[in-house]
Amino acid sequence: MIKLWRVRRDLLGQRFGRMTVVAYMGAPGPGRNSAWLCLCDCAEERIVLAMCLMNGETKSCGCLNRELVTARCQTQSRTHGQTDSRTYNSWLCMKQRCTNPKATNWKHYGGNRVKVCERWLNSFEAFLADMGERKPGTTLGRFGDTGNYEPGNVAWMTRAEQEAHQKAKRAA
Ligand SMILES: [Zn+2]
Repeated sequence: MIKLWRVRRDLLGQRFGRMTVVAYMGAPGPGRNSAWLCLCDCAEERIVLAMCLMNGETKSCGCLNRELVTARCQTQSRTHGQTDSRTYNSWLCMKQRCTNPKATNWKHYGGNRVKVCERWLNSFEAFLADMGERKPGTTLGRFGDTGNYEPGNVAWMTRAEQEAHQKAKRAA
C-alpha cells in the first residue's frame, strides 16, 4: 500500500520523454499497474500505465514514433536511391535531361521544351508511386516519343518498344 502511494505521488508532474503526468486515473484492476493521464508536448492526451512510463516504453502520445518512422523512410529511400535503385537513377536522369542544359541529350529534351511535371520534379516518391519500380531491360519512354514527362504519357519500355514509338513519331 505504501509503495503504491509512493509511486502515485512520484509520477504526478513527472516527465517521461515528451509526456508530462497530469492526473492519476486509477488502476485497471487489483494488483495491476496504475494508470495516468499524460499530456504530450504536442498537446495530445493519453492514458498510460505507470509501468510503460517507467520502463521507457511510452515516451510520447505516438507522435515521436511517427516522426522516427518518417525519418527512417526518408533515409532509406535516399540510401536506396544513391546506391542501387534503377528507378531512382531514371528519375534523376529524366530531371537532368529536361532541366540541365549541360546534360547529355538536353537538346532533344529540355532544349526541345520537354518538361517534367511539377509532381515528379519535386518528389521521387510521387514518381515511384505513379510509375512503380523500373523493370529490368526497360527505360523511361514517352508514348509516341513526344510530350512531357507526366503521368499517362510515359511507361517503362523495352528498347524495341521505344524504337517503335520513335519510328511512329518520324512517320507522323
Ligand atoms: Zn505527441
